[in-house]
Amino acid sequence: MTKPQFDIAALRNSAPNAEWITNSSALRAYECDSYSAYRELPVAVVLPSTTDEVAAIMRHCDVYDIDVVARGAGTSLVGGAMPKAGGIVLGLARLNQVVEFNPDDRMICVQTGMTNLMVSHIAAEHNLFYAPDPSSQMACSIGGNIAMNSGGAHCLKYGVTTNNLIAVKIVSAQGEVHDFHVDDGFDLRGIICGSEGQLGVVTEAWLKLETSPEGALPMMIGFPTPEDAGECVASIIRAGIIPVAIEYMDEIMIREVERFANAGYPLVSALLIVEIEGDPTRIAVEMGAIEKIAQKHKANPIRRSQNANEATKIWAGRKAAFGVMGRLADYITLDGVVPISQLAEALRRISEISSNHGMGVTNVFHAGDGNLHPLIMYDAQKDGDLERAEALGVEILTACIELGGCLTGEHGVGIEKREIMKRQYLPHELELQMQIKDIFDPQWRLNPDKVFPLDISAERRS
Ligand SMILES: Cc1cc2nc3c(=O)[nH]c(=O)nc-3n(C[C@H](O)[C@H](O)[C@H](O)COP(=O)(O)OP(=O)(O)OC[C@H]3O[C@@H](n4cnc5c(N)ncnc54)[C@H](O)[C@@H]3O)c2cc1C
Repeated sequence: MTKPQFDIAALRNSAPNAEWITNSSALRAYECDSYSAYRELPVAVVLPSTTDEVAAIMRHCDVYDIDVVARGAGTSLVGGAMPKAGGIVLGLARLNQVVEFNPDDRMICVQTGMTNLMVSHIAAEHNLFYAPDPSSQMACSIGGNIAMNSGGAHCLKYGVTTNNLIAVKIVSAQGEVHDFHVDDGFDLRGIICGSEGQLGVVTEAWLKLETSPEGALPMMIGFPTPEDAGECVASIIRAGIIPVAIEYMDEIMIREVERFANAGYPLVSALLIVEIEGDPTRIAVEMGAIEKIAQKHKANPIRRSQNANEATKIWAGRKAAFGVMGRLADYITLDGVVPISQLAEALRRISEISSNHGMGVTNVFHAGDGNLHPLIMYDAQKDGDLERAEALGVEILTACIELGGCLTGEHGVGIEKREIMKRQYLPHELELQMQIKDIFDPQWRLNPDKVFPLDISAERRS
């Protein structure tokens, strides 16, 4: 049930210097995120520029019982930033300033509307970089990365957002400002990271930076079957080699990326892009060791990138992969995880499930940490096709859980996976998670209707 209309003028007065959007055609830009199959119009969108403004807005919403959905860049693939009808969207894009930068300590504090790529650009001037690198990094915000505990191709070696996050400033549902650090008592920073906008609005974050390596080079390894590629990944990691990245692409994806980005990929059934970093000797030694392992798994061809230009093209192709698929079909991007020893079996099961359903699935994913991204292709114009694609997705994610994995590695739960949380967690485990939300947000006003199955959270949300 939608809440009664509230007083827009009074709401605006809570932060008169912020930008307010209430015009229905302008509000359309915020009706969904990258999971565009589901849409809702908010009553208003507000774009504050400071923590104080966020706090004032939250205090007003607390008093007048208004639901709030925080939004970074809206690139969520699970409907995490979809508005709640009758509520407002709190857009953080204007909180985009550096608060403090200590290159000698390899730390930077930014407002969370800053894009992920901008942080790396700023760090690069001091030969530093911010490791989590989602493929959406040109657009996605640090706040969205924290809320989803995002990862990326280079997280195999450096970890995902939570491993690179030192402290957060949050505004609570009641409009109070809190600072949570990694080493203060309970790790509340850790609870905020990955909490999908359910516990507070993150307005500033201290991020850990890494020193740029002396060099880094990718190599491309082709395989006759997806299973061979999957087994090779497990063998590389078992041998104790930790590349910066091991990315996987199947044949459909390779063809599409080649047509668009001309990345120089070989046309094979399955391709691994493996990147090694360090000094030239280390790169040569590790690449040699990986080649030997790959040969045992029938690899052909094996190509080392010869120069920076080739390396850039290889990565540009990988980062464009999700985007180019949009030219081929409508699609849902899944985000399951399996132990790497189960990669080959997971790929076999995905192909089986896909043919049982008679729907196309293509794969591009972070193989080194077992984070699968099957893309289920469907036709949005065809009645019932979305529902069929969703059912197929549930089967694939269930298979990931059965193989000892879980239903999200980096994209989060949002609305897409809230119902299948029951397959991952027992009732008392879900209850505990909801009790944590109760503490931070007793009225369940922050990003309601997401993450938790609707039936078991109904009473709290009402
Ligand atoms: C082409 C493409 C490629 C992608 N590749 C990757 C990838 O490689 N790795 C990966 O992990 N993800 C990837 N994603 C998913 C998405 O980019 C990430 O989840 C990203 O972190 C979302 O950031 P955002 O700023 O767009 O957040 P939004 O989509 O705006 O919001 C996401 C969630 O975060 C919450 N939120 C946003 N800002 C705040 C804040 N300041 N405080 C509290 N809550 C907040 C929202 O309420 C919502 O629940 C990809 C998406 C696309 C479209």
